[in-house]
Amino acid sequence: MGLGGTAYGNAFTPHMVTARWTPETGWTEPGLTPFAPIPMHPAMVGLHYGQVVFEGLKAHRMRDGSVALFRPRENARRFGHSAARLAMPALPDDLFLAAAEALVAADGAHVPEDGGSLYLRPLMFASEPDLMLRPAREYTFLLMAFATGGLFGDADSIGVWVCHDQSRAVPGGTGAVKCAGNYAPTYQAQLRAREHGCDQVVWLDPVERRWVEEAGAMSLFFVRGGPGAARVVTPGLTDTILPSVTRASLLDLAGDLGYEPVVERVSLEQWRKECASGEMTEAFSCGTAAVVTPVTRVCDRDGDWVVGDGTPGPVTLALRDALLGVQTGRAPDPRGWTRPVPAA
Ligand SMILES: *Cc1c(COP(=O)(O)O)cnc(C)c1O
Repeated sequence: MGLGGTAYGNAFTPHMVTARWTPETGWTEPGLTPFAPIPMHPAMVGLHYGQVVFEGLKAHRMRDGSVALFRPRENARRFGHSAARLAMPALPDDLFLAAAEALVAADGAHVPEDGGSLYLRPLMFASEPDLMLRPAREYTFLLMAFATGGLFGDADSIGVWVCHDQSRAVPGGTGAVKCAGNYAPTYQAQLRAREHGCDQVVWLDPVERRWVEEAGAMSLFFVRGGPGAARVVTPGLTDTILPSVTRASLLDLAGDLGYEPVVERVSLEQWRKECASGEMTEAFSCGTAAVVTPVTRVCDRDGDWVVGDGTPGPVTLALRDALLGVQTGRAPDPRGWTRPVPAA
């Protein structure tokens, strides 16, 4: 997963939050502790059979110096869906939110001042030591955070490589939830994208291998027409597309900016032809970590093509600016997406 800006996926803040679940006790109250390694039984179920789900959300430094979480309820709800899919107990949304607030309150000083943010990583794994193939009877919830760098510089554009022979997700599978097992199987294709001089993999639908679904672990958008009459297009959610909070937010913001948000699948062939004809002017990927990243180049087995003029387009940059504006308190927040966290 590209993390955008100057990201340090291993520079963790001083604290973490932990809670445990057993059938007898349910969830314990999430507790704040110093960030430290955790004891682990060699037969822990999560390690062997992948009963592991996670989330990713951010806390931003606001214009007035305070810190606010961005749409944390959406992540809490999705965490519950992910857990249910892997036959894991739900962490109540209120415990999820309390954990996020406790960590941000304690470590808010680590949110960089220059438009930086804290990336929060909630994780739940089966911690029962037992090698029987059945859902575990003990679970651990952890929440940790690291600082990511300023995002107000230029958005770096990326090139993407189309994968035709592997699938990120399959119908009836787990592609629409954030379970740990979804990610390592994408790394081989990611390495191949790199060999082709590209930054991310484009995933096609796994049945017809015709429709464009996601880029790496990010949602994909396309722009038809110019800023005056732009249509901002993204495929509809299926069980092979992760319901991204950033995607949903950008569809709303596209309308606010006077663009037409369109939920419609786009084929690889359309992508190529419409870039050649000029009908498609921009493309971008998005997600919590990467925010909005312009996609300016596509590498396919039948040849490469450039999107628009090969540089980040105005609609992409306006959407990115609008999203960062709400997240950082620079723009109004009529939908109540930001959740202020008082310092501890
Ligand atoms: C997390 C994720 C996204 C982005 O979701 P956000 O809620 O916007 O961060 C997109 N695709 C996949 C596969 C993901 O795992």
